[in-house]
Amino acid sequence: MKKTFDTVIIGAGLSGLLCGTLLSKKGQRVCLLEKNNNIGGAIQTFTRKGVTFDTGMHFFGSVGKGQIQREIFKIIGIDEKVDLIEKKGTAFNVIINDKEYEIPTGFDNFQKKLVEYFPKEKHSVELYLKRIKSIYNNLTIENLYKGIVNKTDLETGAFEFIKSITDNIDLQNLLVFNNSLYAGDKETTSLYMHAVITGSYISSTAEFKEGTKSFTDVLKNEIIQRSGVVLTTKEVVRLETVKDIITSCICSDGSEYTAENFISSLHPSLTLSLTDSNCLKSIYRKRILGLNNSAGSFLVYIIMKDSAFKYNSSIFFINNSDKVWSSENKGKGSFTMYTPYSGKSGEYAGFVEIVRSMDYEEVKNLKNTRSKLRSEEYKQFKKDKAEDIFEIISKIYPNFKDKIEEYYTSTPLTYNDYTGIPEGSMYGIVKSYKTFFESSISVRTKIKNLFLTGQSINFHGMLGVSITSLLTCSLLTGAEIYD
Ligand SMILES: Cc1cc2nc3c(=O)[nH]c(=O)nc-3n(C[C@H](O)[C@H](O)[C@H](O)COP(=O)(O)OP(=O)(O)OC[C@H]3O[C@@H](n4cnc5c(N)ncnc54)[C@H](O)[C@@H]3O)c2cc1C
Repeated sequence: MKKTFDTVIIGAGLSGLLCGTLLSKKGQRVCLLEKNNNIGGAIQTFTRKGVTFDTGMHFFGSVGKGQIQREIFKIIGIDEKVDLIEKKGTAFNVIINDKEYEIPTGFDNFQKKLVEYFPKEKHSVELYLKRIKSIYNNLTIENLYKGIVNKTDLETGAFEFIKSITDNIDLQNLLVFNNSLYAGDKETTSLYMHAVITGSYISSTAEFKEGTKSFTDVLKNEIIQRSGVVLTTKEVVRLETVKDIITSCICSDGSEYTAENFISSLHPSLTLSLTDSNCLKSIYRKRILGLNNSAGSFLVYIIMKDSAFKYNSSIFFINNSDKVWSSENKGKGSFTMYTPYSGKSGEYAGFVEIVRSMDYEEVKNLKNTRSKLRSEEYKQFKKDKAEDIFEIISKIYPNFKDKIEEYYTSTPLTYNDYTGIPEGSMYGIVKSYKTFFESSISVRTKIKNLFLTGQSINFHGMLGVSITSLLTCSLLTGAEIYD
């Protein structure tokens, strides 16, 4: 039997849930179709021995009063419903080789600290922050709505800009301290991406007090309370199209859903695989299928022994070489480590999470294997990777390994298995400053009632995905989505 809605949203990851909440708030009856048992996509959680781990949302920025992520939460109507823990004091510990830097949030604090570390570079630091602040401050709801973005910032390389500001290699490296959060690449990352993400985390940084599930639960409840539905184990396999209109979408179990409009939150290449409509011309398909994806990730989820490892609210960016750019050190150099607030027990950390960039090539040969049946060789490969990380951590925290109760790992294959994202990519399609417009994808498609959203459209992460969700939904409801 066909089920009819105002809008059907394919995928219930961050973007699908945000769009669902926004449209429900505007009075639409929405239906989310998610292929997995659980919602959340890249931000789903899993539980082992009573510990719930977050997979792809650890922290995010711009949550202070009047800052953009906070404003977006208000527009979505969830500002009062999400419980955040904001980082105070030192928010980031950056270790590059054996040098350690303590980085606070707040632009003024950040500037002061950088000048303390590099007194001779005071002028460079000021020039750098002036530009970063101006790009970041330009990112307002009003400007987004009007489509105001400075083309030069999109078409300038982050590294080019940093190099033009200072010759000091240590400072150059420190300025990209959190580039793993945007898969930083000297060759492709734009100044815009660098400035918006760095600016966002410097303005303020937070995590969910009770972990990501508390957030996805809020979004799901908002949808359900407004008579929407969020259905799991519903893999969309086909979009039925008549001329330039989608009439329904069909799931692998044969169920069919009709709606006035359809939003796909999938990676654009997966959306294309759902329809052979002539409206999506071969040149469009070829362009999208030819775009590169960001690297994947290797994660280590560690349950610590009772009262063995101190909780630290700061996020650690650890580099054991001066090759600090994500693309330079895939799987070998830097990683991020933190003790989630949701695992805090008194002064101790219940668990630790580690994220390191990882190339899909390393596991590509296992692409067609089933996760439970992967070989002993794969298990050993993951163990070796984890041990390598533990060894580096032991230089900072002696005997770290002895404090571990149990640990679990994931690779790009895991993300590919769970979310379907090609190559288990962490952040989806790469936006190169050299080919910015070729790698841009519109939220509109040539199929009149098919819209796109998700991390590959503009940019990734809580902020990027929230912004794109606003833009996608504004097309369906009119500009008043911003009211
Ligand atoms: C390891 C890691 C760490 C990260 N850390 C952070 C962080 O600290 N801060 C931050 O801001 N961002 C972080 N990110 C990025 C952030 O998690 C993503 O940008 C965001 O979650 C992507 O959301 P999405 O909705 O675009 O995609 P997805 O989460 O991939 O959602 C797509 C959904 O569609 C479903 N689906 C796929 N095919 C079908 C189908 N045929 N039918 C139905 N459903 C389907 C998938 O199962 C999935 O649920 C991290 C990402 C990773 C991988």
